[in-house]
Amino acid sequence: MQFQARLVTWNEIVDWCLKLRSHIVGSYHPDAIIGLSRGGLVPARLLSDYLWIKDLFSVKTEHWGITASKDGEAKITADPSLPIRGKNVLIVDDITDTGSSMKLAVDTIKKFQPASLKTSTMLHIEHSTYVPDYFATSVSAMEWTWFIFPWNIYEDVLNLTGKILHAPMHVRDLSDALKENFGLDINQRYLGELLQNFAKSGKVVSSGGMWGMPQGK
Ligand code: AMP
Repeated sequence: MQFQARLVTWNEIVDWCLKLRSHIVGSYHPDAIIGLSRGGLVPARLLSDYLWIKDLFSVKTEHWGITASKDGEAKITADPSLPIRGKNVLIVDDITDTGSSMKLAVDTIKKFQPASLKTSTMLHIEHSTYVPDYFATSVSAMEWTWFIFPWNIYEDVLNLTGKILHAPMHVRDLSDALKENFGLDINQRYLGELLQNFAKSGKVVSSGGMWGMPQGK
């Protein structure tokens, strides 16, 4: 096994965001939400609904380039006109893993002089150097998993496929290899549909019922 990965369902997303809602309501009253793009965008949108907050902004953070591989230092891009001065602000992300992205976001967003700032993530891995004020579920470092969120399936499944598809494979063998290498349960029919869509974007190639990576990838 290279590492553990699993598909997250939309129901889990809704459950985790409702759990966050119940932790936040009654303890913090944000005026504005900032979703960390891209992983925090959907949870931030759900919380803006669940907490009745219409001021929803986003700030872009980047840390993990290829699925489950860190891309050097965390980076951030924030619009200098972000209108949060004097506001109570809640930052939302999908997961704190190393914690570097959230820490960088907090340090950067503080410079915009909000009245108060709190942080929240759906998932929190216990080895993270930053602990969010609110999280729905904590995951022990021993149980570290790459969570494939519903908004990241194409990117993650393609990247995981690229890690094992060194020679052309049948979809059945690819599905078995994803299970062996990443513990990933993905049914063959769905994997086949994904591969066909990847092929239309030139990300994989097929020949005689076998799938491979394009030359030079
Ligand atoms: P980090 O800076 O390590 O706390 O993580 C930054 C971002 O990378 C997170 O907001 C996620 O979008 C993504 N990420 C990090 N670790 C994981 C993981 N274990 N599963 C899924 N996405 C992750």
